[in-house]
Amino acid sequence: MSRFACGRINALPAYEPNPAIFDCKLDANENPYPPDSDLRALIAAALADAPLNRYPDPLAHEVRRAYADVMGLDMACVVPGNGLDELISLLMSAFLEPQECLLTFSPDFSMYAFYAGVRGCRVVEKAKPGYRLDADLLIRSARDCGAKMVIFSNPCNPTGGLLPQRELARALGELDCLVVADEAYMDFAGESALPLVGQYDNLIVLRTCSKAFSLAGLRLGFAVAAPELAAVLMKVKSPYNLNVLTQLAAVPCIRAEQKRRENLQEISRTRDWFYRELCALEADGLTVYPSAANFIYLETDGAPALDAQLQRAGIIVRRFGARGLRITIGRPDEMRAVVQIIKTGLEQMS
Ligand code: PMP
Repeated sequence: MSRFACGRINALPAYEPNPAIFDCKLDANENPYPPDSDLRALIAAALADAPLNRYPDPLAHEVRRAYADVMGLDMACVVPGNGLDELISLLMSAFLEPQECLLTFSPDFSMYAFYAGVRGCRVVEKAKPGYRLDADLLIRSARDCGAKMVIFSNPCNPTGGLLPQRELARALGELDCLVVADEAYMDFAGESALPLVGQYDNLIVLRTCSKAFSLAGLRLGFAVAAPELAAVLMKVKSPYNLNVLTQLAAVPCIRAEQKRRENLQEISRTRDWFYRELCALEADGLTVYPSAANFIYLETDGAPALDAQLQRAGIIVRRFGARGLRITIGRPDEMRAVVQIIKTGLEQMS
């Protein structure tokens, strides 16, 4: 709070990340596996001669080329950002006038409304019945509120629900507003809208290296859109938004496709095991949601007690409201410990 800040900024609640003091961090949907020793050697070699006295490449050519190659994209469609957080904020400045309407859904990633609030936009948050998003809800809601832009995460953070590509394509065909599909977790799901970018000039796809690419600490994300839209974002981003260390270190990591496939398989296997274990506890008062991402969302009246028990064991997960817990998929040993604590906790409560 400051008397110098804009009124709307003083009114915004601050985003409060968990302090990183837990042994087992299952709250932020990070990848539990850091780049392995081979990749670390490549990163070290890439950084050895980093020209630290110079500004970095403002167009981040090498990183964009690597990402475009790996994803089969035209480089002119790829805009680099200091994580998706920066790109989400840029979207609001580039495409929304203050007072214009941003449509989001609930539940979804809270930072959409936050950055729109910083910009002074009107935010309409539409509840998803049964936590499900489909083309009809998208189309109807966007028309009802006269949205200039609609944004949602796919798979959804926090529920893990997935909007199939054909549903999105149907909505894109019917809507005239900008449609932003935040695919932070799509590497785990395989239903990407990237192939639709060439067909729809109102689509922006957001991708991050923080999850499947194991690079949350590097801060790197991409907006992918038709060249005219991409050029607008390139114009408004600050020239040196990707520092030289990120640019150099990211290239070998982005190109390590085989390692990434193995990593994704391992996390998906662990997620499917964890999901089955939790489903077996549904009779004890747990509702578990199927997830296409690297986390599982569940609801139970016992959420506060379970959260406290997990924290006592050094495990941090993410609470949502009174009954929701979102648990990131970690290593198998970590997930076994979580299952054990939830089982014991529910038994004690019954
Ligand atoms: N979008 C979604 C849906 C997310 O969950 C996150 C991270 N929690 C982000 C964007 C931000 O990702 P980044 O690390 O690239 O800033």
